[in-house]
Amino acid sequence: MRARITSSLTAVRNLGILAHVDAGKTTVTERILYLTGATYKRGEVHDGTTVTDFDSQERDRGITIFAAAVSCVWDGHRINLIDTPGHVDFSDEVERSLRVLDGAVAVFDGVAGVEPQSESVWRRADRHGVPRIAFVNKLDRAGADLDTAVASIRARLHPAPLVVQLPIGREDGFTGVVDLVRMRSLVWAGGGAVEEGPVPGELLEEAGRRRRLLEEAVAELHAGALEEFCAEPAISERTLAGALRELTLSGAGLVVLCGAAYRDRGIEPLLDAVVAYLPSPLDLPAAPAADPTVPAADPEGSLAALVFKVSTTATGRLTYLRIYSGTMRKGDTVLDAGAGRAERISRILRVQADRHTEVDRAVAGDIVAVAGPKAARAGATLCAPGSPLVLEPPGATDPVVSVA
Ligand code: GDP
Repeated sequence: MRARITSSLTAVRNLGILAHVDAGKTTVTERILYLTGATYKRGEVHDGTTVTDFDSQERDRGITIFAAAVSCVWDGHRINLIDTPGHVDFSDEVERSLRVLDGAVAVFDGVAGVEPQSESVWRRADRHGVPRIAFVNKLDRAGADLDTAVASIRARLHPAPLVVQLPIGREDGFTGVVDLVRMRSLVWAGGGAVEEGPVPGELLEEAGRRRRLLEEAVAELHAGALEEFCAEPAISERTLAGALRELTLSGAGLVVLCGAAYRDRGIEPLLDAVVAYLPSPLDLPAAPAADPTVPAADPEGSLAALVFKVSTTATGRLTYLRIYSGTMRKGDTVLDAGAGRAERISRILRVQADRHTEVDRAVAGDIVAVAGPKAARAGATLCAPGSPLVLEPPGATDPVVSVA
Protein backbone atom coordinates (compact mmCIF):
# COMPACT_ATOMS: atom_id res chain seq x y z
CA MET A 1 0.00 0.00 0.00
CA ARG A 2 1.43 3.30 -1.13
CA ALA A 3 -0.36 5.35 1.49
CA ARG A 4 0.69 3.57 4.68
CA ILE A 5 2.41 5.93 7.07
CA THR A 6 5.12 4.33 9.10
CA SER A 7 5.91 6.28 12.21
CA SER A 8 9.49 5.10 12.30
CA LEU A 9 12.07 7.74 11.50
CA THR A 10 13.71 5.45 8.97
CA ALA A 11 10.62 6.08 6.84
CA VAL A 12 11.02 9.87 6.78
CA ARG A 13 12.69 11.77 3.96
CA ASN A 14 13.28 15.50 4.47
CA LEU A 15 13.73 16.41 0.86
CA GLY A 16 14.67 19.53 -1.05
CA ILE A 17 14.34 20.11 -4.76
CA LEU A 18 17.21 22.18 -6.09
CA ALA A 19 17.17 23.76 -9.50
CA HIS A 20 18.00 26.62 -11.74
CA VAL A 21 14.96 28.85 -12.25
CA ASP A 22 12.85 27.36 -15.04
CA ALA A 23 14.35 23.85 -14.92
CA GLY A 24 11.01 22.60 -13.63
CA LYS A 25 11.22 22.54 -9.85
CA THR A 26 7.66 23.82 -9.37
CA THR A 27 6.31 21.33 -11.90
CA VAL A 28 8.19 18.41 -10.32
CA THR A 29 6.97 19.43 -6.85
CA GLU A 30 3.41 19.78 -8.02
CA ARG A 31 3.46 16.42 -9.80
CA ILE A 32 4.86 14.73 -6.70
CA LEU A 33 2.03 16.16 -4.61
CA TYR A 34 -0.54 15.12 -7.17
CA LEU A 35 0.82 11.62 -7.51
CA THR A 36 1.07 11.05 -3.78
CA GLY A 37 -2.52 12.14 -3.38
CA ALA A 38 -1.58 15.14 -1.29
CA THR A 39 -3.65 17.26 -3.59
CA TYR A 40 -6.67 16.55 -5.68
CA LYS A 41 -6.54 19.58 -7.88
CA ARG A 42 -3.94 19.71 -10.54
CA GLY A 43 -2.12 23.01 -10.75
CA GLU A 44 -0.38 24.25 -13.82
CA VAL A 45 2.48 26.65 -13.53
CA HIS A 46 1.21 29.01 -16.17
CA ASP A 47 -2.24 29.59 -14.65
CA GLY A 48 -0.91 30.29 -11.17
CA THR A 49 -2.78 27.48 -9.40
CA THR A 50 0.24 25.38 -8.46
CA VAL A 51 -0.31 24.32 -4.89
CA THR A 52 3.17 25.02 -3.53
CA ASP A 53 2.96 28.60 -4.69
CA PHE A 54 1.39 29.86 -1.47
CA ASP A 55 2.52 33.36 -1.97
CA SER A 56 0.92 35.89 -4.26
CA GLN A 57 4.19 37.73 -4.86
CA GLU A 58 5.61 34.43 -5.99
CA ARG A 59 2.70 33.81 -8.30
CA ASP A 60 3.03 37.29 -9.74
CA ARG A 61 6.71 36.93 -10.44
CA GLY A 62 6.45 33.35 -11.62
CA ILE A 63 9.44 32.26 -9.57
CA THR A 64 9.71 30.31 -6.36
CA ILE A 65 10.59 32.79 -3.65
CA PHE A 66 9.52 31.61 -0.24
CA ALA A 67 10.12 28.10 1.06
CA ALA A 68 7.11 26.01 1.92
CA ALA A 69 7.34 22.63 3.63
CA VAL A 70 4.74 20.17 2.41
CA SER A 71 4.26 16.57 3.59
CA CYS A 72 3.20 13.68 1.43
CA VAL A 73 3.35 9.88 1.58
CA TRP A 74 4.92 7.49 -0.90
CA ASP A 75 5.32 3.75 -0.41
CA GLY A 76 4.93 3.95 3.38
CA HIS A 77 7.42 6.82 3.65
CA ARG A 78 6.62 10.34 4.72
CA ILE A 79 8.30 12.81 2.43
CA ASN A 80 8.59 16.35 3.77
CA LEU A 81 9.26 18.54 0.77
CA ILE A 82 11.18 21.65 1.70
CA ASP A 83 10.96 24.12 -1.11
CA THR A 84 14.26 25.82 -1.82
CA PRO A 85 14.29 29.07 -3.78
CA GLY A 86 16.07 28.74 -7.10
CA HIS A 87 16.45 32.46 -7.52
CA VAL A 88 19.82 33.87 -6.65
CA ASP A 89 18.29 36.88 -4.82
CA PHE A 90 17.09 34.62 -2.06
CA SER A 91 20.35 33.00 -1.16
CA ASP A 92 19.87 33.31 2.62
CA GLU A 93 16.74 31.30 2.36
CA VAL A 94 18.50 28.70 0.23
CA GLU A 95 21.16 28.40 2.94
CA ARG A 96 18.60 27.86 5.65
CA SER A 97 16.61 25.30 3.70
CA LEU A 98 19.81 23.40 2.93
CA ARG A 99 20.42 23.27 6.65
CA VAL A 100 17.08 21.63 7.48
CA LEU A 101 16.82 19.06 4.69
CA ASP A 102 18.53 15.68 4.67
CA GLY A 103 18.67 14.93 0.96
CA ALA A 104 17.85 16.59 -2.34
CA VAL A 105 16.81 16.07 -5.92
CA ALA A 106 18.73 18.35 -8.28
CA VAL A 107 16.56 19.10 -11.31
CA PHE A 108 18.21 19.94 -14.65
CA ASP A 109 16.79 21.06 -17.96
CA GLY A 110 17.28 18.28 -20.52
CA VAL A 111 18.21 20.83 -23.19
CA ALA A 112 20.31 23.32 -21.23
CA GLY A 113 22.00 20.80 -18.88
CA VAL A 114 23.96 22.45 -16.08
CA GLU A 115 23.32 26.20 -15.92
CA PRO A 116 25.20 28.78 -13.83
CA GLN A 117 22.60 28.86 -11.06
CA SER A 118 22.45 25.09 -10.86
CA GLU A 119 26.17 25.24 -10.27
CA SER A 120 25.94 27.77 -7.44
CA VAL A 121 23.18 25.94 -5.58
CA TRP A 122 25.10 22.69 -6.11
CA ARG A 123 28.22 24.14 -4.46
CA ARG A 124 26.16 25.31 -1.52
CA ALA A 125 24.64 21.86 -1.13
CA ASP A 126 28.21 20.49 -1.25
CA ARG A 127 29.16 22.76 1.62
CA HIS A 128 26.23 21.46 3.64
CA GLY A 129 27.07 17.85 2.74
CA VAL A 130 23.58 17.21 1.33
CA PRO A 131 23.29 13.79 -0.40
CA ARG A 132 21.71 14.23 -3.83
CA ILE A 133 20.26 12.46 -6.79
CA ALA A 134 19.77 14.14 -10.17
CA PHE A 135 16.64 14.39 -12.33
CA VAL A 136 17.13 15.47 -15.93
CA ASN A 137 13.76 17.01 -16.77
CA LYS A 138 12.06 18.15 -20.00
CA LEU A 139 13.27 15.19 -22.05
CA ASP A 140 10.22 15.79 -24.24
CA ARG A 141 11.63 19.12 -25.48
CA ALA A 142 13.18 19.50 -28.91
CA GLY A 143 16.93 19.16 -28.53
CA ALA A 144 16.75 17.38 -25.15
CA ASP A 145 19.30 14.63 -24.72
CA LEU A 146 20.09 12.71 -21.55
CA ASP A 147 23.65 11.81 -22.56
CA THR A 148 24.54 15.44 -23.31
CA ALA A 149 23.00 16.62 -20.03
CA VAL A 150 24.92 13.91 -18.14
CA ALA A 151 28.15 14.96 -19.87
CA SER A 152 27.60 18.52 -18.61
CA ILE A 153 26.92 17.22 -15.09
CA ARG A 154 30.15 15.20 -15.26
CA ALA A 155 32.16 18.14 -16.57
CA ARG A 156 30.82 20.77 -14.18
CA LEU A 157 29.38 19.15 -11.07
CA HIS A 158 30.15 15.55 -10.35
CA PRO A 159 32.81 13.23 -11.72
CA ALA A 160 30.76 10.09 -11.24
CA PRO A 161 27.20 10.29 -12.59
CA LEU A 162 25.52 6.89 -12.40
CA VAL A 163 22.75 6.79 -14.99
CA VAL A 164 20.11 4.31 -13.84
CA GLN A 165 17.64 4.75 -16.70
CA LEU A 166 17.67 4.45 -20.47
CA PRO A 167 15.07 6.74 -22.07
CA ILE A 168 12.62 5.13 -24.47
CA GLY A 169 12.12 7.46 -27.45
CA ARG A 170 13.41 10.98 -27.93
CA GLU A 171 11.94 14.47 -27.65
CA ASP A 172 8.25 14.40 -28.49
CA GLY A 173 8.46 10.61 -28.74
CA PHE A 174 9.91 10.21 -25.22
CA THR A 175 7.42 7.80 -23.71
CA GLY A 176 9.20 5.85 -21.01
CA VAL A 177 12.39 4.52 -19.47
CA VAL A 178 14.17 1.25 -18.96
CA ASP A 179 15.02 0.96 -15.28
CA LEU A 180 18.59 -0.37 -15.46
CA VAL A 181 18.62 -1.53 -11.83
CA ARG A 182 15.56 -3.75 -12.16
CA MET A 183 15.89 -4.28 -15.91
CA ARG A 184 12.22 -3.46 -16.43
CA SER A 185 10.56 -0.90 -18.63
CA LEU A 186 8.09 1.77 -17.56
CA VAL A 187 5.98 3.39 -20.22
CA TRP A 188 3.67 6.31 -19.56
CA ALA A 189 0.52 5.84 -21.55
CA GLY A 190 -2.10 8.56 -21.91
CA GLY A 191 -4.09 9.86 -18.93
CA GLY A 192 -1.32 9.24 -16.41
CA ALA A 193 -1.38 5.42 -16.75
CA VAL A 194 1.94 3.63 -16.29
CA GLU A 195 2.71 0.28 -17.86
CA GLU A 196 5.50 -1.80 -16.43
CA GLY A 197 6.93 -4.60 -18.48
CA PRO A 198 10.00 -6.40 -19.75
CA VAL A 199 12.70 -4.48 -21.59
CA PRO A 200 11.51 -4.03 -25.19
CA GLY A 201 13.34 -6.34 -27.62
CA GLU A 202 14.84 -3.53 -29.68
CA LEU A 203 16.38 -1.99 -26.55
CA LEU A 204 17.71 -5.21 -24.98
CA GLU A 205 21.23 -4.83 -26.33
CA GLU A 206 21.55 -1.15 -25.46
CA ALA A 207 20.01 -1.66 -22.02
CA GLY A 208 22.41 -4.58 -21.38
CA ARG A 209 25.38 -2.45 -22.42
CA ARG A 210 24.31 0.43 -20.17
CA ARG A 211 23.63 -1.87 -17.27
CA ARG A 212 27.19 -3.24 -17.56
CA LEU A 213 28.57 0.31 -17.67
CA LEU A 214 26.60 1.11 -14.53
CA GLU A 215 27.87 -2.03 -12.79
CA GLU A 216 31.45 -1.22 -13.73
CA ALA A 217 31.16 2.37 -12.54
CA VAL A 218 29.62 1.24 -9.25
CA ALA A 219 32.26 -1.47 -8.76
CA GLU A 220 35.02 1.05 -9.31
CA LEU A 221 33.60 3.53 -6.80
CA HIS A 222 32.52 0.97 -4.27
CA ALA A 223 35.99 0.18 -3.04
CA GLY A 224 34.91 -1.81 0.00
CA ALA A 225 32.92 -4.29 -2.02
CA LEU A 226 35.03 -4.41 -5.13
CA GLU A 227 35.77 -8.10 -4.83
CA GLU A 228 32.17 -9.00 -4.31
CA PHE A 229 31.25 -7.01 -7.39
CA CYS A 230 33.97 -8.51 -9.52
CA ALA A 231 33.11 -12.02 -8.38
CA GLU A 232 29.55 -11.75 -9.58
CA PRO A 233 28.92 -12.16 -13.27
CA ALA A 234 25.84 -9.95 -13.02
CA ILE A 235 25.12 -7.99 -9.90
CA SER A 236 21.74 -8.61 -8.34
CA GLU A 237 19.19 -5.82 -8.21
CA ARG A 238 19.47 -5.77 -4.43
CA THR A 239 23.25 -5.54 -4.34
CA LEU A 240 23.28 -2.82 -6.96
CA ALA A 241 20.55 -0.79 -5.22
CA GLY A 242 22.38 -1.12 -1.88
CA ALA A 243 25.63 0.07 -3.45
CA LEU A 244 23.88 3.01 -5.14
CA ARG A 245 22.47 4.04 -1.77
CA GLU A 246 25.88 3.93 -0.12
CA LEU A 247 27.44 5.91 -2.95
CA THR A 248 24.67 8.52 -2.70
CA LEU A 249 25.04 8.87 1.07
CA SER A 250 28.83 9.21 0.84
CA GLY A 251 28.60 11.55 -2.17
CA ALA A 252 31.00 9.32 -4.14
CA GLY A 253 28.47 8.70 -6.91
CA LEU A 254 25.50 10.59 -8.32
CA VAL A 255 22.40 8.61 -9.33
CA VAL A 256 20.83 10.18 -12.41
CA LEU A 257 17.19 9.73 -13.49
CA CYS A 258 15.22 11.45 -16.21
CA GLY A 259 11.71 12.42 -17.19
CA ALA A 260 9.34 15.08 -18.37
CA ALA A 261 7.50 16.34 -15.31
CA TYR A 262 5.13 18.45 -17.34
CA ARG A 263 3.88 15.33 -19.08
CA ASP A 264 3.79 13.25 -15.88
CA ARG A 265 6.74 11.17 -17.00
CA GLY A 266 9.36 9.98 -14.58
CA ILE A 267 7.83 11.02 -11.26
CA GLU A 268 7.06 7.52 -9.88
CA PRO A 269 10.62 6.23 -10.36
CA LEU A 270 11.93 9.51 -8.96
CA LEU A 271 9.92 8.98 -5.77
CA ASP A 272 11.09 5.37 -5.60
CA ALA A 273 14.68 6.62 -5.87
CA VAL A 274 14.11 9.20 -3.12
CA VAL A 275 12.96 6.38 -0.84
CA ALA A 276 15.67 3.95 -1.94
CA TYR A 277 18.75 6.15 -2.08
CA LEU A 278 18.30 9.31 -0.01
CA PRO A 279 18.83 9.33 3.76
CA SER A 280 16.39 9.31 6.64
CA PRO A 281 17.11 11.65 9.58
CA LEU A 282 18.73 8.67 11.31
CA ASP A 283 21.32 8.22 8.56
CA LEU A 284 22.92 11.58 9.20
CA PRO A 285 24.54 13.35 12.12
CA ALA A 286 22.27 16.10 13.52
CA ALA A 287 24.93 18.80 13.71
CA PRO A 288 23.34 21.72 11.89
CA ALA A 289 25.53 23.99 13.97
CA ALA A 290 28.71 23.99 15.91
CA ASP A 291 27.01 22.65 19.01
CA PRO A 292 28.17 19.08 19.52
CA THR A 293 25.72 18.54 22.37
CA VAL A 294 22.80 18.08 19.96
CA PRO A 295 22.21 14.36 19.73
CA ALA A 296 21.53 12.82 16.33
CA ALA A 297 17.77 12.62 15.88
CA ASP A 298 16.99 11.35 19.38
CA PRO A 299 13.31 11.69 20.36
CA GLU A 300 14.35 11.15 24.01
CA GLY A 301 16.93 13.95 23.92
CA SER A 302 16.51 17.54 25.05
CA LEU A 303 14.39 19.59 22.63
CA ALA A 304 16.24 21.45 19.87
CA ALA A 305 14.34 22.83 16.89
CA LEU A 306 15.38 25.32 14.22
CA VAL A 307 12.82 27.77 12.79
CA PHE A 308 13.39 28.00 9.05
CA LYS A 309 10.40 29.95 7.89
CA VAL A 310 7.70 32.15 9.35
CA SER A 311 4.64 32.71 7.30
CA THR A 312 1.64 34.89 8.06
CA THR A 313 -1.40 33.38 6.41
CA ALA A 314 -5.09 34.19 6.52
CA THR A 315 -5.39 31.76 9.45
CA GLY A 316 -2.55 33.32 11.43
CA ARG A 317 1.17 33.04 11.95
CA LEU A 318 2.76 29.71 11.13
CA THR A 319 6.28 28.88 12.27
CA TYR A 320 7.96 26.13 10.24
CA LEU A 321 10.60 24.20 12.09
CA ARG A 322 12.89 21.22 11.94
CA ILE A 323 13.20 19.26 15.16
CA TYR A 324 16.73 17.95 15.59
CA SER A 325 16.37 16.41 18.99
CA GLY A 326 13.69 15.66 21.55
CA THR A 327 9.91 15.79 21.28
CA MET A 328 7.66 18.83 20.97
CA ARG A 329 4.12 18.47 22.32
CA LYS A 330 1.04 20.54 21.80
CA GLY A 331 0.69 22.90 24.78
CA ASP A 332 4.44 22.95 25.55
CA THR A 333 6.18 26.14 26.54
CA VAL A 334 9.56 26.34 24.85
CA LEU A 335 12.42 28.81 24.96
CA ASP A 336 13.55 30.93 22.01
CA ALA A 337 17.13 30.67 23.20
CA GLY A 338 18.64 33.55 21.22
CA ALA A 339 15.91 36.01 22.23
CA GLY A 340 15.58 34.67 25.78
CA ARG A 341 11.81 34.53 25.37
CA ALA A 342 9.26 31.85 26.20
CA GLU A 343 6.90 30.78 23.41
CA ARG A 344 3.86 28.54 23.67
CA ILE A 345 3.15 25.83 21.12
CA SER A 346 -0.64 25.89 20.77
CA ARG A 347 -0.93 23.69 17.67
CA ILE A 348 1.36 21.40 15.69
CA LEU A 349 0.49 20.96 12.03
CA ARG A 350 1.57 18.85 9.15
CA VAL A 351 1.12 20.95 6.08
CA GLN A 352 -0.12 19.14 3.02
CA ALA A 353 -0.67 20.77 -0.30
CA ASP A 354 -4.29 21.63 0.29
CA ARG A 355 -4.88 21.03 3.97
CA HIS A 356 -3.28 21.00 7.41
CA THR A 357 -3.43 18.00 9.72
CA GLU A 358 -3.12 18.67 13.43
CA VAL A 359 -0.90 16.33 15.46
CA ASP A 360 -0.25 16.09 19.21
CA ARG A 361 3.51 15.90 18.99
CA ALA A 362 6.45 15.96 16.66
CA VAL A 363 9.77 14.23 17.25
CA ALA A 364 13.42 14.56 16.28
CA GLY A 365 13.79 14.34 12.52
CA ASP A 366 10.37 15.86 11.86
CA ILE A 367 9.51 18.98 9.91
CA VAL A 368 6.25 20.64 11.00
CA ALA A 369 4.57 24.00 11.26
CA VAL A 370 3.46 25.27 14.65
CA ALA A 371 1.01 27.92 15.70
CA GLY A 372 1.44 29.86 18.92
CA PRO A 373 4.90 31.44 18.81
CA LYS A 374 4.40 35.18 18.51
CA ALA A 375 7.88 36.44 17.84
CA ALA A 376 10.26 33.59 16.93
CA ARG A 377 11.96 34.40 13.64
CA ALA A 378 13.56 32.31 10.96
CA GLY A 379 16.90 31.18 12.32
CA ALA A 380 15.67 30.97 15.96
CA THR A 381 16.27 27.88 18.05
CA LEU A 382 13.34 26.63 20.13
CA CYS A 383 14.50 24.45 22.99
CA ALA A 384 13.58 23.11 26.41
CA PRO A 385 13.41 26.01 28.93
CA GLY A 386 15.97 24.36 31.20
CA SER A 387 18.52 23.63 28.43
CA PRO A 388 19.22 26.74 26.36
CA LEU A 389 20.82 26.00 23.04
CA VAL A 390 21.42 28.01 19.87
CA LEU A 391 21.61 26.05 16.60
CA GLU A 392 22.22 28.98 14.29
CA PRO A 393 24.50 31.79 15.46
CA PRO A 394 22.83 35.24 15.45
CA GLY A 395 23.36 37.10 12.18
CA ALA A 396 24.13 33.92 10.23
CA THR A 397 21.26 34.75 7.92
CA ASP A 398 18.56 37.38 7.92
CA PRO A 399 15.10 36.76 9.31
CA VAL A 400 12.64 35.72 6.66
CA VAL A 401 8.98 36.59 7.10
CA SER A 402 6.61 36.04 4.23
CA VAL A 403 3.05 37.21 3.97
CA ALA A 404 0.55 35.18 1.95
P1 GDP B 1 10.96 26.34 -11.86
O1 GDP B 1 11.26 27.78 -12.12
O2 GDP B 1 12.23 25.54 -11.76
O3 GDP B 1 10.06 26.14 -10.69
O4 GDP B 1 10.27 25.77 -13.18
P2 GDP B 1 8.74 25.52 -13.53
O5 GDP B 1 8.26 24.26 -12.95
O6 GDP B 1 7.99 26.77 -13.25
O7 GDP B 1 8.86 25.27 -15.10
C1 GDP B 1 9.36 26.25 -15.96
C2 GDP B 1 8.68 26.11 -17.32
O8 GDP B 1 9.05 24.86 -17.90
C3 GDP B 1 7.16 26.11 -17.22
O9 GDP B 1 6.65 26.81 -18.33
C4 GDP B 1 6.80 24.64 -17.29
O10 GDP B 1 5.54 24.43 -17.85
C5 GDP B 1 7.91 24.10 -18.20
N1 GDP B 1 8.19 22.67 -17.92
C6 GDP B 1 8.36 22.08 -16.72
N2 GDP B 1 8.58 20.76 -16.86
C7 GDP B 1 8.58 20.52 -18.21
C8 GDP B 1 8.73 19.33 -18.99
O11 GDP B 1 8.92 18.23 -18.49
N3 GDP B 1 8.68 19.49 -20.34
C9 GDP B 1 8.46 20.71 -20.94
N4 GDP B 1 8.44 20.74 -22.26
N5 GDP B 1 8.28 21.83 -20.22
C10 GDP B 1 8.33 21.75 -18.87
